[in-house]
Amino acid sequence: MLNLILFGPPGSGKGTQAARVAEKYNLLHLSTGDMLREELRRESALGKEAKRFIDEGLLVPDEVIIGMISDKIDATSNVVKGYLFDGFPRTQPQAEALDNLLSLKNTQIAGVLALDVSEEEITRRILSRGESSGRSDDRDESIIRNRYQVYQNETAPVANHYKASNRFVLLPGEGSVEAIFNSLSEQIDRLL
Ligand code: AMP
Repeated sequence: MLNLILFGPPGSGKGTQAARVAEKYNLLHLSTGDMLREELRRESALGKEAKRFIDEGLLVPDEVIIGMISDKIDATSNVVKGYLFDGFPRTQPQAEALDNLLSLKNTQIAGVLALDVSEEEITRRILSRGESSGRSDDRDESIIRNRYQVYQNETAPVANHYKASNRFVLLPGEGSVEAIFNSLSEQIDRLL
């Protein structure tokens, strides 16, 4: 299996790039943000619990996220060539849980590809996405700033978990979608 993490702040282009990378390398794209929005849409119990966190730009509790990913891995590990995680893991406990879940399937994370984008560019991109995404957390500048703060405080340190084992690569996240995709592909080809 080839398992990769696309890492970076909200609005760094993970979703756009993940869809392309997953297609090119035949990986299952797992975006916890998309999975949560689907639960919200279905008005499931999980969706209702997650909504108050998402609306504030806060992280949904680890046990909810880990349970969701664990179910997904159990249901698909026999049929996929690998996973592309997008927006997950976002905390140290999530990173540790992911290691455990993958080791139960006799596999691991091959690399973490991080997109580097400035806070100003991120705020601009998310507000512009908010005009068409229908996401309320993309429309309010104070919630966007909150999401960025949460990223800095809780998610950015997760990079150390992977840097320690030399599995972390930082790439420029500003430029054309095509140029960023090419540099991601170059890094992934090195891991194959
Ligand atoms: P995203 O689409 O990745 O920007 O996620 C949107 C929102 O969903 C985030 O602001 C969080 O409230 C929640 N969320 C998504 N993924 C996670 C995660 N791995 N851990 C905790 N909360 C998450």
